Amino acid sequence: MDSNIEKLAEIVRRSKRIVFFGGAGVSTESGIPDFRSVDGLYNQKWDYPPEVILSHSFFIRNTEEFYRFYREKMLCPDAKPNKAHIKLAQLEEEGKLTAVVTQNIDGLHQAAGSRRVYELHGSVLRNYCMKCGKFHDVKKIMDSKGIPLCECGGTIKPDVVLYEEGLDDATLRGSVEAISKADTLIIGGTSLNVYPAAGLVNYFNGDDLVIINLSPTQMDSKAGLLIQGKIGETLSAI
Ligand code: NAD
Repeated sequence: MDSNIEKLAEIVRRSKRIVFFGGAGVSTESGIPDFRSVDGLYNQKWDYPPEVILSHSFFIRNTEEFYRFYREKMLCPDAKPNKAHIKLAQLEEEGKLTAVVTQNIDGLHQAAGSRRVYELHGSVLRNYCMKCGKFHDVKKIMDSKGIPLCECGGTIKPDVVLYEEGLDDATLRGSVEAISKADTLIIGGTSLNVYPAAGLVNYFNGDDLVIINLSPTQMDSKAGLLIQGKIGETLSAI
């Protein structure tokens, strides 16, 4: 076994309260593109950069254009959990992992069986009417054309935190509590560039900080174990 995998296996063996903090890189092995890799959304050609299209003001002013991008790039109905999602769900089942804190909005951790998942940026699977508050599933968005409308005539908005919007208080509190009580924090598949989410890892005060990412992050020098590799392959090897 590769020595980094052995070290990771040993850390997992001795840990009792692992928290996993992840991002878009966790789902690339499920076929969902991330933002900052070479084939990520930032390197594809659109009329506006993704962070502009995915902002609150753009949604309000250009709702139809928002949904054109959103349906094509943010909804991946056929994506299935990969080895990373499955291993993390197993670790929770075994009583080793207390929470997954994710910046992802794809619902794949829950699809793999994870129960305590803090979705910092919401979920594409939930959508609500801005007029009457009724919730709608993702099928309603996929099956509609142009701007999806509620039966009451109101515009439906994804329950996703757009740029310029604040994070949900309860989700933030739960994430901070889990991370600050963790004995091991595994950070994976995130560039740690999106704030305030990325700042949450600073609440970690435990014994072992592990980073598993394809490209370097600003936290690499703080990690006790740094693995530059694919997260699904790495986690499933322990
Ligand atoms: P990011 O695109 O900024 O960074 C992804 C990181 O993951 C990169 O550093 C890349 O090197 C690494 N990576 C890619 N594939 C990997 C793999 N198989 N194994 C290990 N590392 C891998 O993503 P981010 O930090 O999550 O921030 C971007 C924002 O994009 C988040 O707020 C998130 O909400 C949103 N987003 C979500 C999804 C999703 O839900 N699946 C997809 C795209 C973007």
